[in-house]
Amino acid sequence: MNKTIAVIRGDGISPEIVAETIGVLDTVAARFGHTFTYQEAPMGGNAIDRFGVPLPEESLKTCLASDSVLLGAVGGPKWDDQPPENRPERGLLKLRAAMGLYTNVRPARMFADLSAACPLRADIAAKGIDFVVVRELIGGLYFGEHRFDRLDGQERATDVCAYSEGEIRRVARVAFEMARKRRRRVTSVDKANVLATSRLWRRTVTALAEEYPDVELLHMYVDNAAMQIVRDPSQFDVIVTENLFGDILSDEASQITGSIGMIPSSSMGDGSRGLYEPIHGSAPDIAGQDKANPIGTILSAAMMLRYSFDRAAEADAVEAAVDAVLAAGVRCGDIWQEGCRLVGCREMGRLIRERI
Ligand code: NAD
Repeated sequence: MNKTIAVIRGDGISPEIVAETIGVLDTVAARFGHTFTYQEAPMGGNAIDRFGVPLPEESLKTCLASDSVLLGAVGGPKWDDQPPENRPERGLLKLRAAMGLYTNVRPARMFADLSAACPLRADIAAKGIDFVVVRELIGGLYFGEHRFDRLDGQERATDVCAYSEGEIRRVARVAFEMARKRRRRVTSVDKANVLATSRLWRRTVTALAEEYPDVELLHMYVDNAAMQIVRDPSQFDVIVTENLFGDILSDEASQITGSIGMIPSSSMGDGSRGLYEPIHGSAPDIAGQDKANPIGTILSAAMMLRYSFDRAAEADAVEAAVDAVLAAGVRCGDIWQEGCRLVGCREMGRLIRERI
């Protein structure tokens, strides 16, 4: 297999964790006889410094011409004073939209060896946590009109939330297909007791469910879902929801499994090309100190192998190497426990590569 991977090294800890992940991909390539070619695509604060914009046209072209994109994270305090349209996150939103990535998938799985890091009560954690959040990524409030005006002598702000049937159906389909490969249960999360977009969401998902009689469909209001995720996460298999609710619930879901440094994500559209990134940010507080946990990014590369390149054995090998390192008691600072061996980003990458 020959694949071209666009690499966004990003800001903060991102260059460190991306370097370890490329090392893992190279090990996979050597072991399984593949060739990965990496194309650099500057984006984020570093791109603002060098090119004046968070997503240069050249970078966008590189991503669109690639078989998949690997990203760490972008942003940091240095660029907080940029005007809204030139902030590092704008680059990411523009990239997601240009690549047509309407589905974001984040697994929330508790690693057996990290159960001590789970902040939930032991009897709740003991039931296990293994679900995925499928979030709509390029519609809703984040992509609606944002406006400031004045009303009755005061400043007023408006954000528009809109969804079409087609936008809902295509992401719901991803959720149903995924559930078929898992435990066959979809929980659709909305706020249909208040919002028009949610009522359309519920109607559309319900209609689509007729094509999936083998998958159980449940509906849940978002406020209840936020409670149920901490009360009994074992009830969930696949959660599907719109952009804003998914942003919040997927962060909550990642937190109950332990550290934010462990969780991968994939964003996909209609084709096989995807954008793979950990869910955390650029962690400027520990940047450049060899303290970052690279596992979220390494597991994102495993998702790339599985979903974009259809290579389950290679993805399994990466995931098994991560499990083996954790089982051996090796930990980065964010997941460190008494009695474990503390390592930095580079050593964690090396030990994972050694086990592939
Ligand atoms: P953050 O995720 O960067 O950091 C939150 C905390 O988690 C920090 O204490 C950090 O040290 C720790 N942490 C995060 N990732 C870690 C890792 N891999 N290993 C060890 N510890 C880790 O969130 P934040 O501080 O709110 O944001 C920092 C910057 O990142 C901001 O500029 C924000 O806009 C940006 N951000 C970018 C993305 C993205 O690019 N997708 C996502 C979220 C935040």
